[in-house]
Amino acid sequence: MPIPCLACDALFRPDEYFPACHDYDRRADLVSWTCPRCGNRDELRVFTGELVYGHARRGGFDAENRVPVPGLRRRRHDARLDITLDGTTWRVPARARRPAKAPGPLRGL
Ligand SMILES: [Zn+2]
Repeated sequence: MPIPCLACDALFRPDEYFPACHDYDRRADLVSWTCPRCGNRDELRVFTGELVYGHARRGGFDAENRVPVPGLRRRRHDARLDITLDGTTWRVPARARRPAKAPGPLRGL
């Protein structure tokens, strides 16, 4: 079943939609999704059987839209989220941790 972009109303097949997921935030359990059509970026949670769009806020998640996706399954890993639908699994890598800032060269000494 097609999955809509909530910004431009374009419809995507699962094999178009899920590869556009990126930057899994394991702590907040959120996946970022950038629309291949309009470039809008959404944050969503993947649940069994549905996608829930909303915004993370301190201590929680404000759900704004729910899109049912029958058969959708998810599995959390340490550094990624696996999303499975109809026998296909897409792996969404975890958001890269910002590396500690390397000390710059010493100047003026
Ligand atoms: Zn869009």
